[in-house]
Amino acid sequence: KKINNFAHVIIIKIMKKFKTLQLIFLMTFVSIMASAKHYTVVISLDGCRWDYTEWYNTPFFDTMAKEGVSSGLIPSYPSKTFPNHYTIATGLYPDNHGIIANEFFDPKTGLLFSLGDAKTKTDPQFYGGEPIWNTAYRQGKRISVFYWPGSDVKVNGRYPDSFFYYDKQPRLTFSQRIEGIVHAMSLPENKRPDLVMAYFEQPDASGHDFGPQSKHTRKAVEQVDSLMESLYSKLCQLPYSADINFIVLSDHGMAWVPQGNNIPISKYLKPEWIRKISGSIPCNIYAQKGCEQKVYNALKNLDHVQVWNRKDIPHYLHFGSNERVGDIVVNPEIGYMVTDVPTRACGSHGFDPELLEMHAIFRAIGPDFRHSSIPHFRNVNIYSLLCRLLKIEPATNDGDINEIKAILKE
Ligand code: AMP
Ligand code: ZN
Ligand code: ZN
Repeated sequence: KKINNFAHVIIIKIMKKFKTLQLIFLMTFVSIMASAKHYTVVISLDGCRWDYTEWYNTPFFDTMAKEGVSSGLIPSYPSKTFPNHYTIATGLYPDNHGIIANEFFDPKTGLLFSLGDAKTKTDPQFYGGEPIWNTAYRQGKRISVFYWPGSDVKVNGRYPDSFFYYDKQPRLTFSQRIEGIVHAMSLPENKRPDLVMAYFEQPDASGHDFGPQSKHTRKAVEQVDSLMESLYSKLCQLPYSADINFIVLSDHGMAWVPQGNNIPISKYLKPEWIRKISGSIPCNIYAQKGCEQKVYNALKNLDHVQVWNRKDIPHYLHFGSNERVGDIVVNPEIGYMVTDVPTRACGSHGFDPELLEMHAIFRAIGPDFRHSSIPHFRNVNIYSLLCRLLKIEPATNDGDINEIKAILKE
């Protein structure tokens, strides 16, 4: 009986010890999980060409490259602002999300979408796919968005948790956006966004007005570099700064368009052939039924442009399966615009994404990124990257995380 009692005590002691061990395991696991919570801040600098950092003085972007990831983004066609920001948000090519240009005609409804028209621009029917802020919400994450194209639209019946109307004036200044981002990231943990996305209009505006190689664009690039430096240093002062991933990217590059490099097309077309003509890089032509071939034949031999029937657009551009794409697409050679109005010298974009002039900046730094430099990659991959960083399941998209796994730790 005594021996029995002794064994009993030993067994209880072992079990107690085991429980303590279990508890220690559990606590370690919980603390690892807790410290594994990371945040991500993504900044888009409109029209920030990837090689501006080689021409201009950008110490912060250089530091990001030295300590984090350096690459470039290949935009989706057409290399314009709205299609590409919404591609970055959804991981879908413009053909598949429906914002196929900054301005386009929708033959189904007869509506003209334009980023300058608040009514069509905020009409959810134009926006297909699932933006990252909706994917994240479905999976219990919080997102705060500052002016990202598409974020002030009720896509699938929902706005992001926090966002701003682009058309509401006055818009937040660049400094107010920085303060807003820092404020959001300083909120208590139960209110803090898992992801912040913010849009800045420069250096696109200067690039258009003065061209990519100009002292004004130099100034704009150097200003956004120091703006990002000030944002990053403010984020670095937060007690959990080591858990913040910081990404700087852009939608497209910028090319020089010399004075008078416009291709007039109206003079070759009979008004009765045409429903609508929209855009200049590229130009989408919506023909009257049965007149498609007449339009094509009238333009096909023009210099400095490629002219495609919608179904014959080269596959690598992933453009033309959407019926919002013109029946005929006129794609200008780099440095030209399809318009009747004689152009003044300026900068512009919208050209073939394979052209290096159209590639955009990509830099990333933070706990999930490996110090690396990889070849330029397709911007449809950013959605998958953000889903990976947020630890959420992506919706169907055109990207492939494997193409960029070299930039991630794991
Ligand atoms: P792009 O013509 O492709 O260079 O487009 C750049 C323009 O898009 C800039 O002039 C911005 O003012 C404009 N833009 C950016 N975000 C929005 C938005 N959410 N709504 C309307 N316009 C925008
Ligand atoms: Zn842009
Ligand atoms: Zn632009």
